[in-house]
This record gives sequence, structure tokens and C-alpha cells, in this order.
Amino acid sequence: MIPFENTLPYETIQQDVYLIECPYCGERNVLLPLKAEHLETIREGRKRLIVFPCCREQITAVNADRDYLLASRPIRRH
Ligand SMILES: [Zn+2]
Repeated sequence: MIPFENTLPYETIQQDVYLIECPYCGERNVLLPLKAEHLETIREGRKRLIVFPCCREQITAVNADRDYLLASRPIRRH
């Protein structure tokens, strides 16, 4: 079972991956430094460090589904 505190909703527009809202600083529609194809490798078990461009916070994504990234630790909410 996936702990909800570790999830982060995202959206894709073609190859671009956006955070709907940054949990750390509240910025909306944050373009993440990864492409939709990377979601596939995360899903296959390749962890990926993601640095948010808005506030330089970072998470390690360990899984992904169609709507959520799963981080290795709970995500603090702002
Ligand atoms: Zn941020």
C-alpha cells in the first residue's frame, strides 16, 4: 500500500511533466526537470532524484503511476 504522505500529483503535457502545486513553496504548474519517458523508468524501479526548479527542494522518486509520483520519504507540506 502506498502511503499518501509520500505521493505527489503531477500532470504531463506531451513530454513535459508538471507539478500541479509544489508542496514546499506553493508554486503552481512547476515544470519538472524530467520528461514523460523518465516516468517509465521510475515505474520500472529506477530511482530518480528530482530537484524542483522553484525552490531547489528535492525528492527521490521511487515509483509513479498515471497521476502520482511516489517519493522515498514523506513530503512535507508547506
Ligand atoms: Zn517549490
